Amino acid sequence: IQRIAVITSGGDAPGMNACIRAVVLTAQHYGIEVLAFRHGYEGLLNNDWQRLDETNVLHILQYSGTIIKSARSERFKQAEAAQEAARNLDAHQIDALVVIGGDGSFRGADHLSHHWDGQVIGVPGTIDNDLFGSDDTIGYSTAVETAMDALDKIRDTAEAMDRVFIVEVMGRHAGFIGLSSAMASGAERMILPELQREKPLTVASIVKHIEAVQRVRGDSSYVMVLSEHQWPGGAVRLAEQLEDRLHLPCRPCLLGHTQRGGRPTAHDRILATRLGVHAVQLIRQGVSGVMAGTSGQGLAETPLAETWQKRKGLSQEWVDIQQSLFNPVKKSKNGS
Ligand code: ADP
Repeated sequence: IQRIAVITSGGDAPGMNACIRAVVLTAQHYGIEVLAFRHGYEGLLNNDWQRLDETNVLHILQYSGTIIKSARSERFKQAEAAQEAARNLDAHQIDALVVIGGDGSFRGADHLSHHWDGQVIGVPGTIDNDLFGSDDTIGYSTAVETAMDALDKIRDTAEAMDRVFIVEVMGRHAGFIGLSSAMASGAERMILPELQREKPLTVASIVKHIEAVQRVRGDSSYVMVLSEHQWPGGAVRLAEQLEDRLHLPCRPCLLGHTQRGGRPTAHDRILATRLGVHAVQLIRQGVSGVMAGTSGQGLAETPLAETWQKRKGLSQEWVDIQQSLFNPVKKSKNGS
């Protein structure tokens, strides 16, 4: 292996820079050259490249974003586009490509591998943590920390003013950010995709829960975490619907893209570093077509297609804890 390339693709995630740094420093250690294509697959198509050596990656691990830019590329999905990308990679004599991104980016990597002979390794970089084959993904820990921080602040004002707040968090079609941030901040209720699929909450059931919690506690603050795409009209609409029924001030708060930025947590920096090193080691071993991930205390590799075909579930233990801690209705039924 003499030369490898790296891209960051799709939604950005805190810790991507730390991963780029680890790829470059590890490659350099083995005398392997690194090229970056800028703006994800768009850069591969436009031949927009730069060389990366250790001077380019000095002191970047503490910053979110990505020094080589990320983007989405609709046209890359065409077979001719993958062939064009393959030609560009071959022209630079690239032996392997590291794709740091989410499931869409891995579909892209898989697509490319049908048209290119080089090795392809995925590294999970997404705040959503929704990839099968890795305990967690780069950026997830930081996003949870950001959401928790916001939820703590919301609690301050909710408590002072006796208000109900609906805080909408990211996560795409998974409830990992929602569950973790709700648990870490003591939110009274969560609307998560996994739970909605099983037993959808209704305005009536939410109102009932809010009233029961407030009756039992004698405290009117109530904070609810809503995963994006889980309520028609989102947090704004739900707050209106609840206010109509409760005659209490109900306020929406949308955290949006704040969850994609900020100082990466120690966990994300360490994870990104481990996975960047792992990706280069896999390339040196001749491996291709897998995602470099973690499992328990160790490292793991998962075929790219499995990362999106198989579903990683929420921890049932966490869900049970969160639901039992805020179940005053059941408690009163049991006579306590
Ligand atoms: P993420 O990696 O964050 O999930 P996207 O879903 O936006 O982000 O995907 C990033 C890019 O990966 C897309 O813009 C596209 O270029 C490529 N891609 C996504 N899905 C496919 C697919 N089915 N075939 C080929 N390329 C894809």
